[in-house]
Amino acid sequence: MRKFQKAILTAIVGAATLTNSAVFAEPGTFDRDAAVATIKTLSANDMGGRRTGSAGSAKAQAYLLELIATLNVEMVGPTHEHKFKFTTESQDGVKVDHIGTNLLFRIEGTGNTGKTIVVSAHYDHLGARDGEIYNGVDDNASGVAGVMAVAEHFKENPPMNDVIFALFDAEEMGLQGARAFVRNIKRIDPNIAFNINFDMISRSDKNELYVAGAFHRAGLVPVIDTIAKKAPVKLLKGHDDPALGANDWTFSSDHGPFHRAGIPFLYFGVEDHPYYHKPSDDFDTVPVKFFLRSIETVVIAANEVDRSLESIVK
Ligand SMILES: [Zn+2]
Repeated sequence: MRKFQKAILTAIVGAATLTNSAVFAEPGTFDRDAAVATIKTLSANDMGGRRTGSAGSAKAQAYLLELIATLNVEMVGPTHEHKFKFTTESQDGVKVDHIGTNLLFRIEGTGNTGKTIVVSAHYDHLGARDGEIYNGVDDNASGVAGVMAVAEHFKENPPMNDVIFALFDAEEMGLQGARAFVRNIKRIDPNIAFNINFDMISRSDKNELYVAGAFHRAGLVPVIDTIAKKAPVKLLKGHDDPALGANDWTFSSDHGPFHRAGIPFLYFGVEDHPYYHKPSDDFDTVPVKFFLRSIETVVIAANEVDRSLESIVK
């Protein structure tokens, strides 16, 4: 996402020690070892950098569908695999058609609220260039692990609202998976009222995670403050004011199309770092302790948004 993503839009128009504790008590019920296994597997060389339409992408999809199957969750429509078409155009005017695949699933809410939350992250990355694989462990195997942890949590602790989980494809090619989803949003679910998006949540040497979205919706401020009090990371509001220019992340990842459609969002991500869109964005260089704190934080956040959705979107 971010810098590279902006370039395309213009063109088209030390691993820490793991503990053995498998499951947290409330408020975040998820398997830490499974979260680590998810980022390790998705960022392995045999996934080839997960570029949209590649063999590595197909392999990543097969792996994610296995994880989804173990959760025993509902489909959205007749399948978990939602294909979409899009066209990219290079700076010299060469057009290429692509097919992307979003992976979607759903957990029903118990509160009869008539509202649905979309919890999302993109699973694609840049593939390989000049013989080097861009494994994209932070961008965005980490966010995928976040979505799966939230799903595990809500499976054990059913949400009030319906929740759709979206693993988007082709984010790196211009937020294409999220755009396709939002284009069809009324058909997918007319009750979608909120988006929580994770993109790059595993790297910080300052124990800091940003959350964007409150600039556009003041009702989110107390919700974020509550999340921040419970979070094991330093949770910082920001990166959502248009006055910040390139540091405004409002349209920098898959929450962008939701925001454009008038749907409030919270986006979680770390500050830019030297591994960003580099072949070195590898599992071996991830601070696993921070990654797990970050995952716990996004689980707490999803829980809190679910509890307070009524007050946010009233
Ligand atoms: Zn990216």
